[in-house]
Amino acid sequence: MGLFNWIKTLNNELKLAEDKMYRQKNDFVEIYQRNIALEKEIALRTEELRKANKTLLTLEHVWDMMNSSRPLSSVLETIVSSLHGEFGYLYSCILQKQLDKQGSFFAFKTYLQNSFSENLDKLISNSLFETRFIIKKNSPFQELLENKEIKCFDNLKEILNELFPNQISDDDIKEFQNVNSAHSLIALPILSKEFTGILMVFSPREEAKDSELNFLSLFAKQIELAITIANLFETVKKQAVTDPLTELFNRRFYEDALSREAVRALRLNQPFTLISLDLDKLKHINDSLGHSAGDAAIKAVARVINKNSRSVDVPSRVGGEEFTIILPGVDSQGGLVAAERIRASLEAEHVEGVGHITASVGVATFIEMTTDVDELVEIADKAMYFAKQNGRNQVKLAEVQDTISWQDIAIDAFIQILDTHKVSFDKVTADGLIKRLQSRQENNSNTLTRELLCDVVDSISKTYTPFYTEGTTKQKVDLAYGIAKRFELPKADMDKLKLAMLLYDIGNVMIPNDVLSKKDPLTQEEKKVISRHPILGAQEILKPISHMAYIIPIIEHHHENWDGTGYPDNKKGNDIPLISQIILIVDSYFAMISERPYRRAYSSEEAVQEIENLAGKKYSEELVREFKNALQDMYI
Ligand code: GH3
Ligand code: MG
Repeated sequence: MGLFNWIKTLNNELKLAEDKMYRQKNDFVEIYQRNIALEKEIALRTEELRKANKTLLTLEHVWDMMNSSRPLSSVLETIVSSLHGEFGYLYSCILQKQLDKQGSFFAFKTYLQNSFSENLDKLISNSLFETRFIIKKNSPFQELLENKEIKCFDNLKEILNELFPNQISDDDIKEFQNVNSAHSLIALPILSKEFTGILMVFSPREEAKDSELNFLSLFAKQIELAITIANLFETVKKQAVTDPLTELFNRRFYEDALSREAVRALRLNQPFTLISLDLDKLKHINDSLGHSAGDAAIKAVARVINKNSRSVDVPSRVGGEEFTIILPGVDSQGGLVAAERIRASLEAEHVEGVGHITASVGVATFIEMTTDVDELVEIADKAMYFAKQNGRNQVKLAEVQDTISWQDIAIDAFIQILDTHKVSFDKVTADGLIKRLQSRQENNSNTLTRELLCDVVDSISKTYTPFYTEGTTKQKVDLAYGIAKRFELPKADMDKLKLAMLLYDIGNVMIPNDVLSKKDPLTQEEKKVISRHPILGAQEILKPISHMAYIIPIIEHHHENWDGTGYPDNKKGNDIPLISQIILIVDSYFAMISERPYRRAYSSEEAVQEIENLAGKKYSEELVREFKNALQDMYI
């Protein structure tokens, strides 16, 4: 392949790599800027490569691999092992300069295992992999790093003694050389911005030709490039989700994490706590001590937060001086303890050039206080402001906002449903019902409101089910409530149940009337049409109405069976919300005891018998038991 063609291929490869980066990370705006930097860097390196390149094929192979999304260590391993095919080398490895408490040393960055490395292990009575090479100031390795030059050491004995001082006898080296037919070591510096290392190649020849050294230099350049690209990728990935000043997560990541956590919390019925923290008097610090002192204060807060966070927590900087921490699985009491720990340890911190700093902290807990993420953020912030107003440097627990009663939510929902003409009422009836619903908002008797709501549901049900029995809604709500009490549902869930009991069948207003009022048993096709009502109700009718979010999953799944044979999602067992299970059993019972054109009504005993037959199948055993108990209590 000619040089020109290779350059073309290289360009194409570059384009592909670039496309890939964009596709993978197009969620992140920041990546755009990083990519420009990356592009420049790659272009620069490519230019260098173009000038230098002679041994195209191997390098092309290496290039392909570098563009794969493999981790750096695996890329380096392949690069190094692909050297063996070239010029018959025996062994190659990359050493990286590292620093720890005892000073700088070199250690293996790539470690390939073959018979040569095993023999070397034997020779030094140690594993190469674990060896720390101290490279002395005047050693030839230090020289080649400083002079950025390639070197071929033909005196293997001398160079091995340099690498492994006082470890090997002359005889052992001789034998090692004979067994492996190793005669020289070629060493090249690998120098990129964040990497200092040496590529070492053991050769069976005593001397290295110029072409060989040229080739190896190019190889070293490829390794540098691979390292640079890998580091840039890492930086891009990190910077897209972190705040550069503090390295805490940024607002975007925090918001995603918050929604993810809310979904998980609802699914597992586990709380999580949100801590909202604002640095006190930062403006004063900035004004009196300068902006960099302000920055130091911000960094100190980040440090303290990090120190006091578990690995599952999500600490973020969400604004200039505003921080949040999401604490999965932690309730409000635990949240208060964690917040207080952070507050106290911040107060105890001495910030260089600033002195002592404090913060005001709000704590709010999901599920316990609200199941609405926006509201959670709002009440956590309110608590934090309250802490500020109250004198700063303190933690406040959020207060649950006055929640709207389930009755008010239901009334609003029905007004909207009637108002959008989804129900096939004549306008006069619809307006009459709307008026009654609106007028209730002034006289606030709960019993009357319940009756009114049940009346409205009765009236709506009659528009799509001609055989609907007047007054059933109230009985259904009572029975469902009786069952729920036996499961000791918390008050919030009880309210959800009451609301859901009024709305679970609302999707039927969107099912063609001739199907619902059909006198003969339904065909398979018609059953399919009817089985869309949970989804229609939840998604088409209720979703656009406010405060409905938390009953939507309940409505969607009120036809799922315990054994997974229900619809729409074949949910099974405890994956089905308990309230949905209760609705199903109540609804089935009332369907059985009412007459249909194609069958007589079951007696209550027959219906109970039928339900018992389905225990462990359509309903859980426990649900059937509690259903029977609740029914007995009601004397229906
Ligand atoms: P309070 O106790 O009521 O929170 O007082 P405050 O001064 O901290 O709050 P205020 O909201 O009045 O001012 C916030 C200041 O934080 C103003 C803004 O310039 C500064 N700030 C925001 N981001 C940064 C930053 O990254 N570095 C520095 N040094 N200051 C910042
Ligand atoms: Mg502040």
